[in-house]
Amino acid sequence: MTDEKTGAPHAFQADVARLLHLMVHSIYSDRDIFIRELVSNGADACEKLRYEALTQPGLIFDENGFAIRITVDEDKHQIIVADNGIGMNEAELVSALGTIASSGTRAFLDKLVEGGNDDGAKGAELIGQFGIGFYSSFMVASKVTVETRKAGTQEGFAWESDGKGTYTIRALSLEDAPANGTRVILHLNDDGRPYAAPGRLAQIVREHSSAIAIPVDVIEKDGEEPYRVAEGSALWTRAKSDITPEEYTDCYRSLAGQLDEPAMTFHWRAEGRQEYSVLAFIPGSRPLDLFEPARKGRGKLYVRRVLITQDADLLPGWLRFVRLIVDSSDLPLNVSREMIQDSPVFAAIRKGIVNHVLQDLTKLAENDLETFQNIWANFGAVLKEALYEDPERRDQLFKLVRFASSKSSEQVRTLTDYIADLRPNQTAIYFITGDNHKRLEKSPQIEGFKSRGIEVLLLSDPVDAFWVSTAVGFDGKLFKSVTQGSAEINNIPLLDGHKDPSHETSREVAALLGYMKQTLSESVDDVCASERLSESAACLVAPAHARDRRLEHILAQGGLGCISKPVLEINPSHPLITALARRFSTSEDLSLIEDTAWLIHDEARVADGEPPVDATQFIERLTRVMTRAAQAPSQ
Ligand code: ADP
Repeated sequence: MTDEKTGAPHAFQADVARLLHLMVHSIYSDRDIFIRELVSNGADACEKLRYEALTQPGLIFDENGFAIRITVDEDKHQIIVADNGIGMNEAELVSALGTIASSGTRAFLDKLVEGGNDDGAKGAELIGQFGIGFYSSFMVASKVTVETRKAGTQEGFAWESDGKGTYTIRALSLEDAPANGTRVILHLNDDGRPYAAPGRLAQIVREHSSAIAIPVDVIEKDGEEPYRVAEGSALWTRAKSDITPEEYTDCYRSLAGQLDEPAMTFHWRAEGRQEYSVLAFIPGSRPLDLFEPARKGRGKLYVRRVLITQDADLLPGWLRFVRLIVDSSDLPLNVSREMIQDSPVFAAIRKGIVNHVLQDLTKLAENDLETFQNIWANFGAVLKEALYEDPERRDQLFKLVRFASSKSSEQVRTLTDYIADLRPNQTAIYFITGDNHKRLEKSPQIEGFKSRGIEVLLLSDPVDAFWVSTAVGFDGKLFKSVTQGSAEINNIPLLDGHKDPSHETSREVAALLGYMKQTLSESVDDVCASERLSESAACLVAPAHARDRRLEHILAQGGLGCISKPVLEINPSHPLITALARRFSTSEDLSLIEDTAWLIHDEARVADGEPPVDATQFIERLTRVMTRAAQAPSQ
């Protein structure tokens, strides 16, 4: 840091500079967002002070209570947003307004560039998600001054910047510093000046005030009386019948930092052994960091309207997409945040919330399938994590889960649908795992199942490989991978018009399989005739004793375990195989047969989305075989 007394310039952290540049030059739509961000920062500051004052009541000395005051001066082209919250000391100013703490910021910046520099709406949509709201001030201001005094201190500081790479911090005399809290002074640029027109800010705040738990006053001109534009009454404490859909949407937006509509709103009050109110939302679209490892289930926890923490561990990871406020009447206020979250009351609330959300989702699936499908498309992959992580909830979840299958490429099939459509003699629920469901649909391994009308679930989310390995079954039927062990589907009748591909393996073919097993032994565990192929010549499956191949691959990527050799299954009635078997029984020259054996094996890998074992050799073999085919006399 440089000399703060003289206000010498500090450079912004590189990411901030980059962000500011983009903010000013590319995000031009929905500038209104800046006022929401500043009001929300002011409200956060008040809520933080309210919490600190639980143990140090002397910190609050504004007897009028908490409030945010917006002063507009059209003549001076200025807007001032002041709060009587916690304030910042010098070090906090540097870290809060000179750096970006959020690890997701780089992702944000990259997204912004990816979306095209002029994609303003997209940018605005992303701002809230990364906790970089304050910097949006520079969309409307050519200079921003932040005057602040940390509660309980006798020092004030002013932070100032034109958003072009540097900022200054200087000490303020006590007369110049706010008596308490923070004043953000925006010196409006050309784009920002219209916001100083009478009534404009009041209207924006009114429209977006429902989530603000602190009252907001506006003064249209210095010296005039303030008037209240938002009561700061917490939405969740109000009766459902008094709340409009717009108020819910607005609350969702400020909670989620997203600008879309919530897909589902939950608002209930639990009464009985524990009393608490819950207001929760399922977003209308996926947040960007949904699959970041650090992303946890979090929610805002209030105790009797005092905000305890923004990040309470109120939800399991598999509900991390739900945005949530909980206000408890029973939790103790005078202990630490950690102790609150360790208490049995907290555990009971957590459990109650999960139950309620799952019950409502189940009802939604029954009553409003379209909305449910939309939620499933966005968050099904996350919900499915519960099948693995929370075995106690598995049966409840099985009622909700939707799958794509060989019967529908959309994720619409339930396990109950599957059971209702079982074929005669079918005793298992068949599935195939992989990373791309379009490819799974065309997998050779499911051909024989299709020709028997047996439905195969297409599982393409990474979590699928895990839960199917531990879930025992559903409705008395085991889950069975179609890429593992023998298929055992011969006693399930073929559909009309389908030929059984698995008729007797001739002596010639049996001899060829023996040769192939020997030739390919370094890559495969076995080569055998298949029951599951009807069109393709070959496919790879896991031996009966090994793990599902997809699971093995995921674990091996993470350094856990190695990949076992697969079994190469051959379609004994495929013309390539019968012709090759004939040649094998009559020809002395095995070079073509050896090349073809390897090519069949590599083709089966490619069908599974894997590369050939050795690309150079693959090319050499393919070229040799094609050359021979081209040189053969035409028929
Ligand atoms: P976010 O509010 O999402 O953390 P911001 O960029 O809006 O992101 O603010 C960064 C940080 O600056 C806040 O986390 C807070 O610590 C601090 N801050 C901003 N405005 C205020 C304020 N009015 N009073 C106290 N601290 C503030």
